Amino acid sequence: MNEVTIKVGPLESMLAHNGTYGPYGGAYIPPVLEGQLTKLADFFDQEVLKDDFRKEFITILKQYVGRPSPLYYAKNLSDYVGSKIYLKREDLNHTGSHKINNCIGQILLAKKMGAQEVIAETGAGQHGVATATAAAILGIPCKVFMGEIDAERQALNVRRMRLLGAEVVTTNLGSRTLKDAVDAALGYYIENPSSFYLLGSHVGPHPYPKMVGYFQSVIGNEAKQQILAEEGRLPKHIFAAVGGGSNAIGLFSGFLADNEVEIHGAEGGGEGTYPNTAATLSFGKPAVFQGTMSYCLVDEDGNPIPSKSIAAGLDYPGISPQHAQLKDTGRANYYPITDKEAVDAYKLLSKLEGITPAIESSHAVALAIKLLKDKGELAVINVSGRGDKDVEREM
Ligand SMILES: *Cc1c(COP(=O)(O)O)cnc(C)c1O
Repeated sequence: MNEVTIKVGPLESMLAHNGTYGPYGGAYIPPVLEGQLTKLADFFDQEVLKDDFRKEFITILKQYVGRPSPLYYAKNLSDYVGSKIYLKREDLNHTGSHKINNCIGQILLAKKMGAQEVIAETGAGQHGVATATAAAILGIPCKVFMGEIDAERQALNVRRMRLLGAEVVTTNLGSRTLKDAVDAALGYYIENPSSFYLLGSHVGPHPYPKMVGYFQSVIGNEAKQQILAEEGRLPKHIFAAVGGGSNAIGLFSGFLADNEVEIHGAEGGGEGTYPNTAATLSFGKPAVFQGTMSYCLVDEDGNPIPSKSIAAGLDYPGISPQHAQLKDTGRANYYPITDKEAVDAYKLLSKLEGITPAIESSHAVALAIKLLKDKGELAVINVSGRGDKDVEREM
C-alpha cells in the first residue's frame, strides 16, 4: 500500500467562516470572555497557516500518538452483514481514542500563545486523561475540573490524571457532575486569563468547533487515502458515533465534498424515546446552549434537560453546530441507536473481529449493521475508541 500522508485541513474551507454554520454556531458568551476568545480565534487563524505549526503537530501525531491509524478490512463483520466494511481504528491511538488528536493540537497552540497552564473539564474522565497526557508530553501544567460525584464514580481515571501530573479539582456545586465542572472551569478561566481552556468536543463558542474540527480532520484525510488505496473507489457509506460530534466531523470532513458518499451519524438513543435519550438531533430543538446555537434537548419551556445514554461520551444534551447544519441541509443523516442496540454491537464486534469497541463507537457499528444488511455496499465505520474501559460494567 502507498504511504499514507498525515494531514489536516484543508485550511481554506475552515477559515472561510467565522464560526457560523448556516444559522448555527457563533459565540454566545459573557462579555468578560470576549477578549480572551477573540484573541484565541485570531491566534489560531495565524498559527495554523504556518508550516512549522503543522509540522510539529503532525510529527507528534506520528511519533507519539501512532498515526496514521490503520483502516482495517473487517472480513468477518462484512460476511455477517453482507456488505464490505472497513474500520478506521482510532481505538489504536495512544490513550485509546480520537480525543488525543485534539488535545495535542490545542496544547501546542496554548504553548505558542504563552499560556501558563491548560484547564479542562471532564465527566467520565476520558477527556481529562487525554488532556493530562498531552500536557505531560508537552510539559505544561494542567488542571482538570470534575464534579465530586463523577470523581467518585471514575476513581481510576482520577488516579490516572494525577499520575500524569495533572491537578484534579473537584467541585461540590450543583449536581456535582459534568455541567458543574464546566461552570467551575469557566469561573477559573475568567479569573485566570493566562490559562488556556481546552475543550474536548466539537461544541462551545467560536473558535472551538473550528479548532477541534481542524485537528480531528486528520481522521477523514487518512481514511480517504486509505480506502482509495485499498479499493480504488470511494465508500458508498460512512458511519460515526455522535456525542458532541468531534470524531464524526473528523471522519466526515474528508468526504463532505464527495456527494456520492452517504454520511450517517449514530446518536446515543438511550431508552429510545424522549426524554430518556441523548439523541439531540433526533429529539432536540434549536437553542443556545453552552456558548453556541445548535440543537439541544430541551423541556417545554425551551430549557436544556439532562440527557440519558449508556455511553458517557454521548451523554450530552448539546451537539456541534456543524452537525446541526448537515442535518438541516440533508447532507448527513442522524439516527438514534438505543443502549441495547449498542451493547449488542459491542459484543458482536468483540466476538467476530477480536476488537472491543468503546460503547460510544458501538453505536456507529450498530447503525452500520442496520443500514447495510445484505446491501453488498462498501462502507467505513469510525471506531472512535477502545472498549477496555467498558468491560468492567455489567452489560
Ligand atoms: C468522547 C468520545 C466520543 C464522543 O465524543 P465526540 O466529540 O462526539 O466524538 C465518542 N467515542 C469515544 C471513544 C469517546 O471517548
